[in-house]
Amino acid sequence: MNRFCLALTKFLTVQTIQKGVVVTLSYTLRENDAQGVIIQETTQENPLVFLFGAGQLLPEFEHNIAGKSQGDEYAFGILAENAYGLYDPEGLVDLPIEIFMEDGRLAEDLLVPGRTLRLQDDAGHVHSAIVKGRGLDTVQVDFNHPLAGKNLYFTGQILSVRQATPDELAHGHVHGPGGVHH
Ligand SMILES: [Zn+2]
Repeated sequence: MNRFCLALTKFLTVQTIQKGVVVTLSYTLRENDAQGVIIQETTQENPLVFLFGAGQLLPEFEHNIAGKSQGDEYAFGILAENAYGLYDPEGLVDLPIEIFMEDGRLAEDLLVPGRTLRLQDDAGHVHSAIVKGRGLDTVQVDFNHPLAGKNLYFTGQILSVRQATPDELAHGHVHGPGGVHH
């Protein structure tokens, strides 16, 4: 190619994933490895759309897709301690059943195993807990994150990467499809 032709050649920049871009991607999350059971997955109609570097995703997840661009596929694992933490046996507690009395009646419908409850502590902080089971006068709940203690394995594809708008950067989230509408 001579100098003249080079001058006419259009240079196309490929937007790579870095702080301040909006990423749309598909993912399948499995436990442990490629053969693990599926925990979550996106659908074609509902891919994950997020502002990269805004602290919305696991830092280790962002670290693994940084530098990729549209069309790239990925597969990587994240150890439990770098994801939602190790399982803390002390997070499994028996609460007195009186807590769940409302107007003198037990809130039976809340105490179904697997149900997520929002519980407020003495300091006014709200915590999520999952109902595990019931004793005679206690309810066992688990304050651990549902994915605590699990090694995660992600596979998926980068569907698009674009520069975030100034508004999106100021708000710290995505506007439009897959994001906040306001
Ligand atoms: Zn906004």
